[in-house]
Amino acid sequence: MSDTLFRTLDLIEPGDLVLYHGSLRDRHGLYIAEPCFCVSCAREGALGSTDVRYRLTDPFAVDPEAPPLRCARRESITRSVANA
Ligand SMILES: [Zn+2]
Repeated sequence: MSDTLFRTLDLIEPGDLVLYHGSLRDRHGLYIAEPCFCVSCAREGALGSTDVRYRLTDPFAVDPEAPPLRCARRESITRSVANA
């Protein structure tokens, strides 16, 4: 397995383009991923959780006021190959 493929499967860095395929079916699509630092994620982190959550921003949003998708689980997103 190539090093590039391994990174594609595993690591998501801030600013990466990702594909969301989680429980919110109407929000499926491409997003820019950033770590989520909302109140509930900060509290979970303070309680010792290592479950990293992501804040997803739609780079193609028609509505600039559209709220980002918060607290997405790692297993709900896949790093887009469009990054490579
Ligand atoms: Zn959060």
